[in-house]
Amino acid sequence: MAHRATFIPGDGTGPEISEAVRRVLEATGVEFEWDWQDAGADVYEREGTPLPDRVVESIRERGLAIKGPLTTPIGSGFRSINVALRKQLDLYACLRPCKSYEGVRTRFPETDLVIVRENHEDLYAGIEYELGDPKTDRLREFIRETEGTELREDIGVSIKSISVYGTERIVREAFEYAKAYGRSKVTAGHKANIMKLSDGLFLETARRVAEEEYPDIEFEDRIVDNLCNQLVSRPEEYDVIVLPNLYGDMLSDLCAGMIGGLGLAPGANIGDDCAVFEAVHGSAPKYKGQNKVNPMALMLSGMMLLNHIEEREAADRLEQAIADVIREGSSVTYDMKPTRDDPTAVGTSEVADAIIAKMERVTAA
Ligand code: NAD
Repeated sequence: MAHRATFIPGDGTGPEISEAVRRVLEATGVEFEWDWQDAGADVYEREGTPLPDRVVESIRERGLAIKGPLTTPIGSGFRSINVALRKQLDLYACLRPCKSYEGVRTRFPETDLVIVRENHEDLYAGIEYELGDPKTDRLREFIRETEGTELREDIGVSIKSISVYGTERIVREAFEYAKAYGRSKVTAGHKANIMKLSDGLFLETARRVAEEEYPDIEFEDRIVDNLCNQLVSRPEEYDVIVLPNLYGDMLSDLCAGMIGGLGLAPGANIGDDCAVFEAVHGSAPKYKGQNKVNPMALMLSGMMLLNHIEEREAADRLEQAIADVIREGSSVTYDMKPTRDDPTAVGTSEVADAIIAKMERVTAA
């Protein structure tokens, strides 16, 4: 039976990448019934919202989506659709596998790890107090009364809050991922030595979940600055890394750089009822319509989707075909060539052709 999934092509370079990804996913032989749903700036002009209810309902009904990048206007206009989707569907876990494939130009060829980032809490909860707002003065007063600390008048404040509930479920997600994909260790990153009551709670909760629920999987913790240092010195020692929101954001970009850049970094946002697969990169609008950018990050997100729906063999075949194309180095986009203006670089759709040809060869053999 065909798998029912929502496909959001995105904007900017999203539609070209999405078409390449649709083709490789269908070439695996797995059957999909796509519900194509537009969102973003054009939809905003037509329908007065960049994320119509129909898009969210489509994903809710199917529990599964793949999405191209969507542009967020800077300064004015609507807020990030990507963030809105994560909130509305309660996609609390962001998974970002970072694996160095042979043939990629990287100083970190032994990297093969997965960042598991909490998506809702921490400094991203959006609880902020503006400079000059009377609410900020009331907050200063409250802190003076309760802490005896005198904060300066000229401050803006962002609140960092971390809950036991939010931490338990992200840590469980990290261990469940480790179990499902044969990973042997979970590392929690934090700054509990300084933020004892927020990161400290994250660490204490992570330790408890590890000890009580997953005694068979190794668990360790690292202070996040030390973790950054160690990742670029000994990446091969890391496996699954679970982090609160802000550190997760930073470390997933660090690790994307370590494995060859944004063109190769896949991701997924997972909740209890729905999963949305998307690349780490944005819509790269300056390349729109040029058949130029690398579709591999979203293809690898598609590989994650196949694993998620238990189409493991198809996922392995797709990953192997992508790895072969990378290793051979001829049918790859500009970002994977030794120089950005390399005339032998191919376009987005030619990468899909090469990957499909590899899979067909395997099937025929
Ligand atoms: P970006 O990732 O779109 O592009 C930055 C640069 O990285 C590009 O100019 C290009 O040189 C390179 N790049 C990105 N993707 C590539 C690919 N697939 N192949 C080759 N090179 C690639 O980041 P940005 O310019 O900061 O953001 C553009 C827009 O995308 C913004 O509106 C931003 O809000 C949005 N965005 C969306 C998502 C998402 O949909 N999940 C994620 C990040 C950014």
